[in-house]
Amino acid sequence: MTLSLGPRRDAVGLKDGALLVDGKWRPASDGATWTHRHPATGEAIGTVPVANESDVDEAVRAARHAFDEGDWPRARAHIRVGVLLRYASLLREHAEELRGLQALDNGVPLMFSTNIYAGSVEIAADVFTHHAGWVDKVGGQTLPPYQGGDHLAMTFRDPIGVVAAILPWNAPFLLFAQKLGPALAAGCTVVLKPSEFASFAVLRMVELLSEAGLPDGVVNVVTGPGSPTGEALITHPLVDKISFTGSRAVGRHIVEASAGTLKRVSLELGGKSPTLVFPDAPDVGMAAMTTVGTVTMGLSGQACVAHTRALVHRDVYDQFLGAAETMAGAVTYGDPFELSTTASPLINTRQLDRVLGLIERGRAAGARLVCGGERAGGDLAEGNFVRPTIFADVDNDMEIAREEVFGPVLAVIPFTDENEAVRIANDTDYGLGAGLYTADAKRAFRLARRLRAGTVGINGFQVEPHLPFGGFKQSGLGREGGQSAFEAYTELKTVLMPLTDEMM
Ligand code: NAD
Repeated sequence: MTLSLGPRRDAVGLKDGALLVDGKWRPASDGATWTHRHPATGEAIGTVPVANESDVDEAVRAARHAFDEGDWPRARAHIRVGVLLRYASLLREHAEELRGLQALDNGVPLMFSTNIYAGSVEIAADVFTHHAGWVDKVGGQTLPPYQGGDHLAMTFRDPIGVVAAILPWNAPFLLFAQKLGPALAAGCTVVLKPSEFASFAVLRMVELLSEAGLPDGVVNVVTGPGSPTGEALITHPLVDKISFTGSRAVGRHIVEASAGTLKRVSLELGGKSPTLVFPDAPDVGMAAMTTVGTVTMGLSGQACVAHTRALVHRDVYDQFLGAAETMAGAVTYGDPFELSTTASPLINTRQLDRVLGLIERGRAAGARLVCGGERAGGDLAEGNFVRPTIFADVDNDMEIAREEVFGPVLAVIPFTDENEAVRIANDTDYGLGAGLYTADAKRAFRLARRLRAGTVGINGFQVEPHLPFGGFKQSGLGREGGQSAFEAYTELKTVLMPLTDEMM
């Protein structure tokens, strides 16, 4: 029997996609469409328009008009707070529907989007609630005159303007919220581009914005792939800021392509995050299960935060590998709507080929394959499934330890002392996350400071809506979550007023 999800389309209520320009949904001006194929089965699930340069131009002009002439950027605090809080409630009410749409989009199983907070609609709702709180709380400063005299000088935070928000396909609930939450709270207007591999849940999330009372034109949507849609957006002269989550290659390209108009750019890119496991870890088995869990369960390693390099002290190396293999064996693939399915397929055949190629080259380079390393067969043969894969005895110079695989592949690297572990951990182009497992509090804090990563988890790791999240080095620019994320959608303005007799 071959897995088939086609009938779910009607059961879940999926409609074909459309562009949103100034409150009106419509097809692409030239009628072009993108057909979305389900990653678990290869079936065509639905279509979205491919916005061309002129569609993108209209969407950006609508956002520009809403910013320059509309009420939203200047709305009283209670209006913006009200919309954001109503929206958070609507997301919670529609959680089941959104989870189903996402399962049709990117194959992320309901087990994950229901039970794991970071993958849930609830975290997206919480992000909007969190950012609603900044609307009336982020102010400026009043500054004393530097050169004496009677001067009044103060700073304000103005909304940054028109934001191009570009999403990847892997975690649309959270990433949609991490961009639109602070952007709307700050008073910006937005042109949103979902990934061509995960548009449907995002389009429904956008529909709910107008139910929450967001005025037309404040959020506009262009669907379609990087070229032509994304390209037209990142080079548009009327866009003030680009907020991008995706691959390092596209992130670099965005910096270059947007340089002509010096746009503000926030980038959340990839990772090759290390986990350091010491012999005094409170529970080595739990450390192994958590690490393997981030690399295999749910998104099957297609998560920027996955801890894909396990640096394990030689004294507990075999114990770690045993527990890691057991955890990898617990992964179940299948119909994403079945709660027994614990992990998703790879998003497309290009990614499938890439992951299999990296595994093959890892083997050829001399890494020891502990488990996995091949596609799943039987009912799953039509889908993009790769068995959870663990490589032991990896050298940190191997490609498998340096490249972001974005698949269910863990590289395990032995170490003998703390300094060696830190050196290996920091020997990477990336710096998104890191984990460490030890019962020694002094070592934990010492290493948390030495590891060059945006987020360090000590004896565990989680994503929270109010914590800054982002990368050192080539993992990105800026942070999402928390006050710094809100401020990233503002410009700091200084207002000066020398006090003269004539004015008093
Ligand atoms: P991707 O870079 O291929 O695509 C991301 C988005 O950019 C998509 O919407 C795509 O259509 C668009 N795009 C592609 N080319 C473009 C162009 N030339 N101009 C404008 N837009 C363009 O990434 P992906 O495969 O969707 O996602 C996987 C990557 O995302 C991984 O590297 C992962 O680590 C990263 N990621 C990072 C975070 C984080 O918070 N740091 C979170 C999730 C995913």
